[in-house]
Amino acid sequence: MYLKSLTLKGFKSFASSTTLQLEPGITCIVGPNGSGKSNVVDALAWVMGEQGAKSLRGGKMEDVIFAGTAGRAPLGRAEVALTIDNSDGALPIDYSEVTISRTMFRNGGSEYAINGQSCRLLDVQELLSDSGIGREMHVIVGQGQLDSILRATPEDRRGFVEEAAGVLKHRKRKEKALRKLESTEGNLNRLADLLTEIR
Ligand code: ATP
Repeated sequence: MYLKSLTLKGFKSFASSTTLQLEPGITCIVGPNGSGKSNVVDALAWVMGEQGAKSLRGGKMEDVIFAGTAGRAPLGRAEVALTIDNSDGALPIDYSEVTISRTMFRNGGSEYAINGQSCRLLDVQELLSDSGIGREMHVIVGQGQLDSILRATPEDRRGFVEEAAGVLKHRKRKEKALRKLESTEGNLNRLADLLTEIR
């Protein structure tokens, strides 16, 4: 699985439709200050379902829509499409190529689609949840974030590693199962008491 292409249209500084073709391995984006390098990374997070305007370096979500420049009028919507090569079947979907897209209008919420089929945010999140990419997987490390990870307590740092490795999900499931076991044991004890009383 690898990210194959990213298309931005009306997203932040990318007013015209712009497609970045990516290859397996490491991709570097270089350019002068303010040329839109971080906007590309913001687009990746956004299309995968990012809900926090602050994480996208904006004040409100509409700030992702092209706001206009001296020579170009603002646009009414932002669109990003991310195509993922899934020939190894890492994503739980029966396609060798998956395109996730998100569109947002200035006057409304977001619309999501998987391979052109309209879907919910939850579907996008579920599709990505076991892949190691996705919204809360710390797969995108922002400027300055490295510093806070280096300064974190050993417990917090372990939390980051567990989350990245997908352990956290299993820990939560284990806690839930243990709570159920506890309540079942309570019920069994109550049943034993009742049986003793009846006898
Ligand atoms: P640096 O190297 O300084 O970190 P960068 O290449 O990462 O810069 P970005 O932060 O991605 O640059 O892009 C900043 C540019 O994007 C600014 O010129 C800003 O005006 C523009 N920009 C951000 N949001 C919008 C928007 N909604 N509409 C139009 N332009 C926008």
